[in-house]
Amino acid sequence: MNIYSETMNHLLYVGIDDTDSSEGMCTTYIGSVIMDELKDYGFQTEGYPRLIRLNPFARFKTRGNGAVSFKLNLKSKTEYGKAKKFILDRVEELSELEHENTNPGVVFYQGKITPELEAFSLKTIRNIVSIDETQKLAEEIGAEIYKFKIGRGIIGALAAIGCPLKDKTYELLAYRTPENYGKKRKIDRESVEKMDGKTYPQTFDNVDGDYITIEPHTPCPILYGIRGESPDAVLKAHEMIKSYEPVERSAVFVTNQHTDLHLLKAENISQMERFKCYIVRGIVKEPPHIIMGGHVIFSLDDGSGSVECAAYEPTKEFRNIIKELRRGDDLRVYGGIGEKGTLNLEKIEILDLEKVYQTKNPLCKCGKRMKSAGKGKGYKCIKCGRKLRKGTKNFFELKRNIKKGFYEVPPSARRHLSKPLVRD
Ligand SMILES: [Zn+2]
Repeated sequence: MNIYSETMNHLLYVGIDDTDSSEGMCTTYIGSVIMDELKDYGFQTEGYPRLIRLNPFARFKTRGNGAVSFKLNLKSKTEYGKAKKFILDRVEELSELEHENTNPGVVFYQGKITPELEAFSLKTIRNIVSIDETQKLAEEIGAEIYKFKIGRGIIGALAAIGCPLKDKTYELLAYRTPENYGKKRKIDRESVEKMDGKTYPQTFDNVDGDYITIEPHTPCPILYGIRGESPDAVLKAHEMIKSYEPVERSAVFVTNQHTDLHLLKAENISQMERFKCYIVRGIVKEPPHIIMGGHVIFSLDDGSGSVECAAYEPTKEFRNIIKELRRGDDLRVYGGIGEKGTLNLEKIEILDLEKVYQTKNPLCKCGKRMKSAGKGKGYKCIKCGRKLRKGTKNFFELKRNIKKGFYEVPPSARRHLSKPLVRD
């Protein structure tokens, strides 16, 4: 009789988070290394590892705020103990533990993905979750948690296990060899453009004008990341990329990136809170103005209250659309609210454009447009001298330079969770 099969589920979920720092490392890399090594030792993994992005406005977060999880198919109880010890040792060795804000967490779980666990995961993406709250749920469902230092990573580690992925995308991550960390990445630009031409929109956000979007700009181990709709699409694209430095390894992750999973539908503007992301409708109240740094700001009102909306400088040409908004325009905006209460725009839908008029002085009988004769004194013609005590101004409807519809920030400024319009 096999006691093992009666007492435990063979499927082991492993979640890992908060192993990197602004100076290096990446939780996806640690996850890939551990999975590859486990396979070398004869362990069986199941499906694609997951890369789950958490609330982009969480106060304490790792660089990209992404947690990782994967599944192991265990053959025996001995395997469980071996896998656990191996994973914990490797996380300890590979994490940037010397950094104050790096507090890795590892979670092992063998149960079912319950509605409570799913709700918890969604809360880590749409709200703020505490370490205590995570520990409490882990205890209730029987998940084993391991904390390094204060272990904040257990939050993302558990969330990465439980996150529902009704909509999902894939990312292929190619990693550099350690001697190249911190050096300029040597990716052949033409090959990226060619790949984009062949695979878009099955892959997306590859290039943005002169900018190669698949290339990170941090000292992390990632050489490039290709995002797309299926494992086939990102693998095919990966084969088309040429680089002038070795690829140590690569892995395909299934992810909640570019699904808008972070957005809550706000009932109204006054109900919205800081550090959360929303979809909300309103009318432009204060028309756009440019502030120092090249950011474009306007205010949106729905009767319940108003919110300042911003298209920041990195959103580049998106700002040209925002600058064209006028008082009275009816919009639906998508974005997150930062510390100062400003909504950072990710995309907008213009539902209706207000008619905008220009006024001009009346025309004189001689055909010349009249001049004002002074405040309250009517108009006079400088050509023929005719005067008009009570003339009315003429109204001209101005042509608007924008149309109804959706507009989004360029790929270089897109948040990991934000859904590109091409995915709709
Ligand atoms: Zn005249």
